[in-house]
This record gives sequence, structure tokens and C-alpha cells, in this order.
Amino acid sequence: MKLVVDDRPVELDPGATVLDAVNRLGVPLPQLCKDPDRAPLGACRTCLVHVEGMRGTPAACHLPAREGMIVSTTHPEAARVRTAVLDLTRSMLSDGEGRNGFGQVGAAVTRHGLAGPGFTALHHFETDASKSFFVLDREACILCGRCTTACDDVQKIGAISMLGRGDTMKVGVAGDALMSASVCTSCGQCVATCPTGALRPKEVPAPIARRVETTCPYCGVGCGITLNVRDDHRLAVMADDAPANQSSEGMLCVKGRFATGFVHARDRIVRPMVKREGQWHPVSWDEALDAAAEGLARHRGRFGALASAKATNEDGYVIQKLCRVVMDTNNVDHCTRLCHSPSVEAMLVSMGSGATSNSYIDYERAGCLMIVGADASANHPVIAIRFRRAMTRGARIIVINPKRVELCDQADLFIQPRPGTDVALFNAMARVILDEGLANLDFVGARTEGFEEWRASLAEFTLERAEAITGVPAADIAQAARWYARPPFAGSCLIWGMGITQHTNGIHNAHSLLNLSLVTGQLGVPGSGISPLRGQNNVQGCGDAGCIPTNLPGYQHYEPTTLAKFERAWGAAPPPRPGLVVTEMVEGCLDGAVQAMYVVGENPLLSEPDLNHATKAIAQLDCLVVQDLFMHETAELGHVFLPAAAFAEKEGTFTNSERRVQRVRAAVPPPGEARPDWWITAELAKRVARRVGLDVGRQFDFDSASQIFDEMARLIPFMGGLSHERLDREGGLQWPCPTADHPGTPYLYADSFPRGLGRFVPAVQTAAAAELPDPDYPFVLNTGRLLYHWHGGTMTRRVEGLLELAPRLEVALHPADARRLGVETGDPIRVSSRRGDLDGFARLTEAVRPGAIFIPFVKLADSAANFLTNSAHDPSSKIPEYKVCAVRIEAVRAAVSSGRIAAARRPRQENDSP
Ligand code: SF4
Ligand code: SF4
Repeated sequence: MKLVVDDRPVELDPGATVLDAVNRLGVPLPQLCKDPDRAPLGACRTCLVHVEGMRGTPAACHLPAREGMIVSTTHPEAARVRTAVLDLTRSMLSDGEGRNGFGQVGAAVTRHGLAGPGFTALHHFETDASKSFFVLDREACILCGRCTTACDDVQKIGAISMLGRGDTMKVGVAGDALMSASVCTSCGQCVATCPTGALRPKEVPAPIARRVETTCPYCGVGCGITLNVRDDHRLAVMADDAPANQSSEGMLCVKGRFATGFVHARDRIVRPMVKREGQWHPVSWDEALDAAAEGLARHRGRFGALASAKATNEDGYVIQKLCRVVMDTNNVDHCTRLCHSPSVEAMLVSMGSGATSNSYIDYERAGCLMIVGADASANHPVIAIRFRRAMTRGARIIVINPKRVELCDQADLFIQPRPGTDVALFNAMARVILDEGLANLDFVGARTEGFEEWRASLAEFTLERAEAITGVPAADIAQAARWYARPPFAGSCLIWGMGITQHTNGIHNAHSLLNLSLVTGQLGVPGSGISPLRGQNNVQGCGDAGCIPTNLPGYQHYEPTTLAKFERAWGAAPPPRPGLVVTEMVEGCLDGAVQAMYVVGENPLLSEPDLNHATKAIAQLDCLVVQDLFMHETAELGHVFLPAAAFAEKEGTFTNSERRVQRVRAAVPPPGEARPDWWITAELAKRVARRVGLDVGRQFDFDSASQIFDEMARLIPFMGGLSHERLDREGGLQWPCPTADHPGTPYLYADSFPRGLGRFVPAVQTAAAAELPDPDYPFVLNTGRLLYHWHGGTMTRRVEGLLELAPRLEVALHPADARRLGVETGDPIRVSSRRGDLDGFARLTEAVRPGAIFIPFVKLADSAANFLTNSAHDPSSKIPEYKVCAVRIEAVRAAVSSGRIAAARRPRQENDSP
């Protein structure tokens, strides 16, 4: 379509509005209620224009563009009416122009010559400052509805709405309460869209020098964010979202939007340090790298590296290359071992690829979502928004979780099995699918193997037996099977989290799920798929880059032709056998198999189970080199500390949960002498090589992250078509993307599986857990994450607003149990297991079953759930059983001061009675 605006021609696609034409040309026209990413609301009437041949002054946002239209924004009548509307609009603002330079109103008012006092507002409204990151200043509100639409239609939360009528109308929460008392999750979607600054961050604004598009450093959703960089090189708190070609499509959660402050934390370590006589001493890079290289060279062959799933792909690639080329070992691992190793292993066995098969958008296309052992609202909030969108489209939502998570309130079916009984549940569902003729036998026949053996293994899993084992009514199990196999429309997505994997039978749990997808054929087409929700921002990429002991980069096997390929590229062949996983490395510290470790961006002394045991093990190391942003529990035991750059201070890529490789860009320089991880590791590799007499040529002479990426792409076939330059040009792309002209792959397994046929693997219901409740330890402990903290809290504890939202460790327990124990919400309690104890505060909730408790594994006030957890692990994937262990609870009478229990966590001593 061609039309003319203010005498300038413009071309538009069908379906566009006149406002699109105006904005395409960059013509300044007020549009106060129009969010650039959303459909028009038509509420503010400030975008009025004149159109030749048309009566009146229509609102451009609601006017469909038509071929040949002649539009004027400067026509006297349009300008007159618009000015009058703006004058009325500004009468709603106590200062007439919006707050603190945030507002678009001020600019529009000035442009229309409305300086000076306007009408006087009749009513005065309270400011709500109860949220930690932002205020709702109603005297700066023009009731445009952008915020309520953002909360309702975008985030699907509905925390705020228009209250009252006429001139007393205002934005508020149900019951006219404070926002802090509402269901508001502090996502900031409303703040980002407010055109006047009525909703604005509490942080005092500063001029923005530039904007840098990058990727969120928190969870595996991998939302695109735009970092606003202030004149003083600090990141402004109000990060906005990146273009819609990224995975978040304009949505963020509280951490992505507000929690980048850790980058500027005062306790960042900004100089390399070595420890002498028990004290840390700042030294030069040369001195620190030499000390680290010396220690590692002494223990070549008795060495392990823990790479960071928070660092970039390029960082991870160089770490594994150091291990395989210089240290002659495959002992390199990362935190996937502690979250999704059973998923990855089971998918590699059954499909031949260890990644999510679908794209996020498929959750919104599917007719059924079965969400198992995952609390997306807390862990992957932007994915949870997509689940809520699917609900409004009529998809069946099945939530399976021992804990009543937030999504259960909206689900069609909530199944609450006893912990550790997943195989019985899913095998019984499989039997229903087969017995009721719901299987996709064409798919089974053409695309799978092992069907008959698997079918035979299901014989004992009748609905009655499954009900007895799981505690789930047989009718619910059958209903879930029917909806998953035959959704009301499109396909089904199977989504799971660590509730499935962090068990001693994690691998069986994962296989029992994958078998369901194979027997129903619910994968390989849009609107279906299998999705292990990945925890950390780059846990997918860290594994892709080769930071796992079981495979070479790109999950390539230790077989002669592949080893030869790597030898040609690296000038040295990697050892031909798998190395130690992280849990084995920790044990190796005790038996001498590991005497030196290189720990990058991880804190195993917070993330390992049974922390007292892990601490004893790590303390045995002769050389511990830690590379990080902060001093932490593991670093305290280190010998050399190498200060690293944060995500906002370096170039590179992250790969999210849907296999999308996305750019990470430097927005600010690293503080002090901190350096990008890849640079530090490469320097270390060269120095170790010299000491062990290895000629590594120019293997570690990298000039840039992009050069590292190119080397990685040459060696990993499924990334062969990617480069920084292409990602900059086209935005994030999903692997497999084998060639430069390949568009990337939104969903896997359309025609075949990487291993050929999909493989059914019989899953066995073993004992529910390695440690079950008994009279001494009568409760089952379940652990997980919180919305307001991330993982152990190393980053989020340094963000004041998050600490305000979740300042102390809360132990969720059922009211019936609390009554017996004589505790109320807020009472201090002590939780003990056979391995240690911690102090926290009771929170009574029916979200947990009677006899079960839940503790997040963030460390707050010296308390961390992993002092309690059990290191018993799945024999195959080696994942520890974080989700189940036996504990007891007692009320603590200790004095409470400033929100903390005076009696801090006390590690269990060996001579303590059980
Ligand atoms: S911060 Fe998010 S949840 Fe809270 S009111 Fe705004 S949009 Fe709604
Ligand atoms: S959902 Fe995850 S990736 Fe997205 S903004 Fe939140 S923490 Fe960041």
C-alpha cells in the first residue's frame, strides 16, 4: 500500500494502521496509550489526524491504512482538537507534564504550545511506594490503560486494574490495597509501558548514554534485554526488552528487568589475588596466572574443571579446550549434572539429541501442556506467561507436582503424586493410552524401536496399582493420559523440570516421560514437543561447547574419526575416554584422584548436596583456582582468585532452552583488572602448557570471542552455519544450523531422529527415594527455587530490591503439621537432617502436602538447604537426590533480631547424636 503523510510518501504492508505510517516516517505525533509492541487501545485520543475526504479527526492508531490515503498531522483542525485533548490530559497530572523526564506527555505538551498551568485536578490520589523497585504515583497517571493491559493481556497476571468511576477512577489493586499485598510479581511490564512516569523505577533516573541489546543473565529462557547505559557507565535499573525476534517477545520477569545491579556490587573482586599464609593478597595478572599455572601443572592428570553455565559459549569452549589439550583430561563438567543430566542422557539414548525439541511458541500453539515437576512461575517466569496464554486459548493444562505450584490454580488438572513415584504414574498413563487405543501406532511403527519390550514392561502398572503407589486417583491418571494423547486441538507439549530429574531414579523418570511422547507421536510437528526446562542462562550452551566429561564439543563421541578430527584442529588428541563428572570430582578430592581444580563461575560449596561433606572434600585440594565475580564459599578455600568480567562487560553468546544461540554484548567495561573468562583461561592454558613442556602453537592465541565462536562452529556440525556476524545481522538462531544459508531449526525430529529410530526404554519404579522419613526424621524435604532469587543467590543477594522482596529463608510447611509443632507463620524454626541443620522461618501453606516441607536453595542469613540434602545419586547420570530427604523440625526459641535468627546455621558435627 502506498499513502502520503504530511506530503511524504510511505509504503506499508496490508493490515497496517495510519499510525504505523506516521511512525514509519518518524513524524512526531502523540500516542500516549499506544505501546509499540501491542495492539492499539484507542483510549487517549491524542493521535488525531486529518485525512482528505474523511470527516472529523480520526485517531491514527485505530484507522486502517488504505491505498492512496492523504494524511496530515499538521492540519489546523486536527492540531486544534489534539491540543485540547492534550490540555485535558495534562490536567490529570499534578505537575502537568509527567514525572522526572520519564513521560512522553511532557514532550507532547511542549510541542503543542501548552506550557504554563493547565486545568486544576479535582482529586488528589495517594502514591503507592510499597513495591521495592517502583512506585505508582497516581497524580502522574492519565488513565490510558497501558499498564493494566500490560499486566492483564501481556503478563496474564491481572494484579492491577482501573478502580472506581468518573473523576475518582484510578489504577490500583483488588480491594484498594497496597501493591505489595497483591499478586504483583514486580515484573515491571507496567513500568516499561507507562507513558507518564506514574509507574516509574525508584532509582533516580540518569541520562542514558546508549542502549545495548544483549541477553538476560539469569534463567534458561534467555530473554532479550536492552541495557540502558548511563553516562557514568552504570547500567540503569530500567532495562527494556529487545526486539520481538528474540525469545521473550517483549516480556521480562523481575530479575531480567530489575536485577542487573550485581554487576556494580561494591564487593566485586577486581584484582587477581593469591593466598599466602591463609590471607588473600592482590597481585599482578602475571603473578596470579603463574601461581595458578604452577599449581595446575603439578597435577596434570589429577585435575578437574568446573565450567560455568552462566558464562558464554566461548568461555566454556576455551575451558574444555584447556582441559583436553593441555591438562590431558576429560574431567570437565558443569551444573547440568545437578539439574538435567538424566534428561540429557535419556534423550541422547532415546532420540540421539539432548535438547528441547520445540520452540517456546509451540506452548501457545499446543492443545495440551503437561507440565511435570516444574514451577515455571518461579523459575522460568516468561515461559509461565506463555502457559497462561495457552490457557486463554483453550489448551488443556495438566500440572503434575508434589507441591501445589502457582500454575495449579489455573490448571484443568492438578496431579499431586507422592515424591519419587513418577515412573508408576507415567507407566500407568502409558497403559491407558495403549488400552484405550490412543497410541499413534503409525508413528510407533515407522519411527520407533523397542516398542514390544516396553509394552510388556507396563503389564504391572494398572491404574489401581499406580493409585496405590502414587496416591493419585486412578480417574485423574486416566484423564491426563487421554488429554495428552488426544488434545482438543493441535498437539501436546511435554514440559518438565528438576522435579523429575533430581532423584536417584532420575534417568527412569526421564525415560518414562519420553516413552509417552513416542507412543503418542507428540513431537516433530508444530504445537508439540519435549522440553526439559533448563535452569541457568547458558546451561544448554555450556554442554554444547563441550563442558561435559562424556562427550566432545557438540556431543560428539570419543570415537577414532572424531578424535582424529579434533586432533587435526587442536594439534593434540583429546583423551579417548570419558572423564569424571562433578560429583565424582568432589569424591576424587577425598581419595586423591583429583588434587587440583579450576572452578569458573560456580560455587559448588553452595550447590553440591550435603555441603559439610563437600566442604571437607574441596578443602583437601592442593591447588584450587577460582575464577569469578565475587568471593564465595568455594573461593574462600581457594589458592588463586582470578577476577572475571560479568555478562554485561564482555562479548559472546548464550544458548537458551529452545536451542537459540543469542548474542551477549559488552555494555560497560569490566571494573578494575577484571577480564573476560575466555581471555583468562587462554592465558592460563599457555602458561600451563609451557610448564608441562607442551607446544600448543597458537591454539590459545584468541583475539576475540568471535574468533573462538568461529573455531567452535567449524568443529560442531549443528552450529556450522552460525557466526557472531550472522547473529548480529539476523538475531538469535536455533540450532541445528549447519550451513550459512540454513535458517535454523524451530523444531526437531520432523522426519527422523538423530539416532535413526526413536527408542522406547522400559522404566523401572525403584524405591521412591534413597532416604525416606522415619520416626527420627519424619518429614520429606523438597528443594527448589524462588522467583526473587536465583540459584544459591550469589547474584540476587546483591540486588537490594530482591532482598527486600525475599529477605529471609522461609520453610513452607502444611498448617496441620505446624499446628502439631506449635508454630505459626513467621516463627523461627530449625530443620535438621542426618547431615546438618539450618534455621529459617515457618511459612504455613497448603501448597505442600502434610508431612512434606519445601526450602528454596538460596543461601540467606547463613542458611542453605544443601546443608540438609542427600548426596545419594542416580547411578547412571550421577545427579544427586536434591528433591527428597528426611528431616525433622523444631521450634527455635532464640531471639530474633533484624529479620535474622540470632542462632545461625550450625554444621552437624561428627559426634552429634543423630
Ligand atoms: S509489575 Fe508486573 S505484575 Fe506487577 S502490576 Fe506491573 S505488570 Fe502487573
Ligand atoms: S524469564 Fe529468565 S531469561 Fe527471562 S527475564 Fe526472567 S530470568 Fe531473564
